[in-house]
Amino acid sequence: MTRPEPTRVEELASGLRSAQERLRAACVAADRPADDVDLLVVTKFFPASDVLALVDLGCRSFGESREPEAGRKASEVRSEVTDPLAFHMIGQIQTKKAKTVGRWADRVHSMDTVRLADALDDAATKALDSGERSTPLDVLVQINLDGAPDRGGVGVDDLEAMAAHVDDLSALRLRGLMVIAPQEGTAEQWMARAAEIRASFLVGHPDAVDFSAGMSGDLEEAVTHGSTCVRVGTAIMGSRPIVSP
Ligand SMILES: *Cc1c(COP(=O)(O)O)cnc(C)c1O
Repeated sequence: MTRPEPTRVEELASGLRSAQERLRAACVAADRPADDVDLLVVTKFFPASDVLALVDLGCRSFGESREPEAGRKASEVRSEVTDPLAFHMIGQIQTKKAKTVGRWADRVHSMDTVRLADALDDAATKALDSGERSTPLDVLVQINLDGAPDRGGVGVDDLEAMAAHVDDLSALRLRGLMVIAPQEGTAEQWMARAAEIRASFLVGHPDAVDFSAGMSGDLEEAVTHGSTCVRVGTAIMGSRPIVSP
C-alpha cells in the first residue's frame, strides 16, 4: 500500500515527536519512569496509509473506535507489516458488533455492560477455537465519572459487580480501568477522582493494574494521577474530519 504524501508524513512525524516529548515531560514532572506510560496513537477516521506511516515512524499500538472501519483497517495494515501490531478498541461498542471486535482487537478499553462482556467473551471464544486469536481478549472496564448516560462506562457503584462478572469469563482477561474526563470541571479534578476509584479497586483486583487515562487535552493530569496508557489522537493526527453519525 502506498504511504501518504511526504508533507503528511512530516506532519505525523512532528505530531508524534511533540506528543512523545509531552509524555516524557509529564513523566519527569510526576517523578515516574518514562516507560511507565504507553502512548496509544488514536487513528480513528484516518486512513490505513496514515497508520502505515506511523508504523514506519516506530509506533506499534493504535486505538480505533468504530466498527467496521476499525476491523478493516487493522487487517489491511497487518497484512502489510511483519512486526506484531496491537489494535485497541477504545470506543463504545454496540453488542451486535462485538462479534467482529472479538476477532481483531488485542484489547478493549470500553467494556461497560454485562451484555457486552458476554458478547465479547462469546466472540473471543469462537476466535480462539478457530485459531483467529491466540490469546484471550484483554479488557478494561470503563468508568463513568459523572453519571452522564450518553458517555458510556459503568457507574462507580456497579464497578465491582462488573469486574466480578468479567473474572468469570474465560476468554476475557480483566487488565484494569479506563476513564474519559468529562468536559465540565477540570481534568485535574476528574483524574484525581479516577485515581481514588482505581486505588480502592486495586485492593480487590491487585493484578488489574492498567489504567487508560488521558487524551490530547489532559495527558499531563492523567500521568500525574497514575495513567499507564494515554490515548492521543488530535495532537498527533491533526483534527478529525467531520463525519455524520
Ligand atoms: C477519540 C478518542 C481519544 C483521542 O482523543 P483526542 O482528544 O483526539 O486525543 C481518546 N479516547 C477515546 C475513548 C476516544 O474516543
